[in-house]
Amino acid sequence: MERAPPVFDKPKVELHVHLDGAIKPETILHFGKKRGIYLPADTVDGLLKQISYDKPESLTIFLQKFDLYMPAIAGDREAIQKIAYEFVEMKANEGVIYVEVRYCPHLLANCDVDPIPWNQKKGDVTPDDVVKSVNQGLKEGEKDFNIKVKSILCCMRNQPCWSPEIVELCKRYKNDTVVAIDLAGDESVIAACSDHRKAYEEAERCGIHRTVHAGEVGTSQVIKEAVNVLKAERIGHGYHVFEDEQLYKQLLKQNIHFELCPWSSCLTGACKPIFEEHPIIRFMKDGANYSLNSDDPLIFRSTIDTDYRIARDHMKFTEEEFKKLNINAAMSCFLKEEDKKELVYKLREAYGMVKSQEF
Ligand SMILES: [Zn+2]
Repeated sequence: MERAPPVFDKPKVELHVHLDGAIKPETILHFGKKRGIYLPADTVDGLLKQISYDKPESLTIFLQKFDLYMPAIAGDREAIQKIAYEFVEMKANEGVIYVEVRYCPHLLANCDVDPIPWNQKKGDVTPDDVVKSVNQGLKEGEKDFNIKVKSILCCMRNQPCWSPEIVELCKRYKNDTVVAIDLAGDESVIAACSDHRKAYEEAERCGIHRTVHAGEVGTSQVIKEAVNVLKAERIGHGYHVFEDEQLYKQLLKQNIHFELCPWSSCLTGACKPIFEEHPIIRFMKDGANYSLNSDDPLIFRSTIDTDYRIARDHMKFTEEEFKKLNINAAMSCFLKEEDKKELVYKLREAYGMVKSQEF
C-alpha cells in the first residue's frame, strides 16, 4: 500500500518519544531469536498483533505491552545500541531534524538494578552500561542520518529507589546526549515522594533540565506538583490541567511547554476518543506553548505523521499552526542556548520566515 504524503512535509522537532516504545519489530524478532528469548510471535505481523493496537484501551493494557517484547532487548548491549541507532534513522525518515528521546536506563539493565525488570536473569549490563550503549547508537545515527538527537533519562513513579542513580547518570552524561530528567509511569502513585523530589532538586542544582509526565491520566494536582515542587520546565501531556483554570493561567504565564501526544492520548484512555472535543484544541486556540509528539509509535502503530494528520483532519490545525508549534518546540527544547537559536533559525528558514536582510 502506498503511503499518503506527510501532512506537514517540512522539518519537525519532536520532544516526547520513548526509545523503548519506538523499536522496529524486526529488531525485536532478531534479538529474541538470537538470544533464545520467548516472544509471542515469530513474524512481524504476528508480533505487531500482540504488542501494538489502534483502538482505545486503558493505560493498564498499554503498559502490559512492554512485558511482551522488552525481554528481547533488555540486558543486551548490542540490542540497546541497535534500537538507539535505528530510532535515529526512523526519525530522520519522518522529517524530524531534532529529537529528544527518553528512556529509563534501569528498565534496560539486568545488573545493579533492584528489582531486575522483565523477569530477566541477572546479567552484566548495568544502568550505566545502558546509557553508554544508547549514546553510542544515538551518536552513530546522528552522523549517518543528518539529524540532531539528545536524550532524557526517566525516573519511574513506582520505583523511587532508582531516582538517585538516575540523576547521577544525568550528571555523568550531561551533554553527552543526556540533557534532562523525566518522571514517568503510573500517576496514581504520589509523585513528590522524597527520592523523586531530591533527584529533581539535584537536577536543578546541576543545570539538568526537567520534564514530568503529569495530568495524562492523573489529575491537575499532579501537574501542579510537577511545576511547583519538581520545578518542571515542560509537562508531558498535561491534558487534565483544565480541571484547574487558575493553574492553567499560571502555566500560560510561566510559558510552560506542553508535550502533547494526540494519538497516544486516545489509545491510552487519557482523553475521550472524540478528537473534535480534545483538550489539544483549547491549547491551540489559547496560543499555548506546546508540541505534537508520537510517544510510543511501535505500540500505537504510528509515526509522527499520524499525530499531525489527526490535528489537521479533526482539530482544524493549519500549516501555519504546524510551523508555530514546531518553533515553540524548538524554543522549549533542552539544547544549549546557542544550539537552540541555530535550530530555531533552521526551522524559520525552512518555513520561509527569514527575511533576506537577515542573511
Ligand atoms: Zn510518555
